[in-house]
Amino acid sequence: MIPPIASRFVAGDTAAAAFEHARQCNEDGVNLILNLLGEHYRERGPADEDAAAYERLIADIGGTDLDACVSVKPSQLGLDVGEDVFRENYRRVVEAGREHDVFVWCDMEDATTTDATLDAFEGLAREHGGGVGLCVQANLRRTRQDLDRLVDVPGKIRLVKGAYDEDHSIAYTDKADVNEAYREGLELLFSRRDAGIAVGSHDPAMVAYARELHAEYGSEFEVQMLMGVREDAQRDLAREGVEVWQYAPYGGKWLSYFYRRVRERKENLLFALRAVAGV
Ligand code: FAD
Repeated sequence: MIPPIASRFVAGDTAAAAFEHARQCNEDGVNLILNLLGEHYRERGPADEDAAAYERLIADIGGTDLDACVSVKPSQLGLDVGEDVFRENYRRVVEAGREHDVFVWCDMEDATTTDATLDAFEGLAREHGGGVGLCVQANLRRTRQDLDRLVDVPGKIRLVKGAYDEDHSIAYTDKADVNEAYREGLELLFSRRDAGIAVGSHDPAMVAYARELHAEYGSEFEVQMLMGVREDAQRDLAREGVEVWQYAPYGGKWLSYFYRRVRERKENLLFALRAVAGV
């Protein structure tokens, strides 16, 4: 059981609970991106197990009428064990997605993994002609070149600000610089793609900028936000006709994810403390 304190950010400890959450979100017009919690496996066994769990999850999603897809993490599929293990497992998941018509996103982890993740994604995206998406991080200085490389690759691109603490030599560390880089990334995507743009941000300024760019260039886009963060805004945007996807993690390994959410914002910490104190 997920304790009530974490259930704001985690959709349950089983796929069945996550499906129930997805059904409720779908009723409000919000689509679901399901992520089975798990990362940084040092051995092949758990990576293979999670790949198999994703295959089952995808088959189950395919058998429902839910508006839902999945998002995997490279280190969950074995990148810390070896690039070949990651590629093999990533391919298994993507092929299941193709078979059951379920979209497969790939998250982006710290900067030591960027090259391996981009290479694996690009190979599968070109091979399958779509059905896959990749997250890129605006805080990395390299991202402008990466977007240049990805702009003609089939599939979708999710632009986020970046969740990992990176060194100043490779990343913008000042918030204003990250925001500027995010805007530049959005502009590049909207000016050079017709579709397949995901705005992975809770920042009202970035969502508003995406809507301006849509009015200017006509490119199709979607907004993605995390479960438990600005859910009212998610529903409001959906009502206004914006395509909204909520990223909802589930599974037994919820503690470190919950801890990250609580650390990143003061109000989340207050929420957690209030829950513990029962107020
Ligand atoms: P911030 O700059 O953090 O905040 C801007 C404004 O947004 C705030 O002033 C506030 O108005 C609002 N806001 C933000 N957070 C909250 C909150 N908790 N509660 C209330 N209001 C809030 N990062 C990666 O490195 N790799 C990934 O693969 C990845 N995938 C992601 C997938 C999705 C769908 C999302 C939404 C984020 C993902 N991230 C990922 C995290 C991302 O990089 C940022 O760390 C995170 O989204 C915070 O940045 P922000 O753009 O939301 O806005």
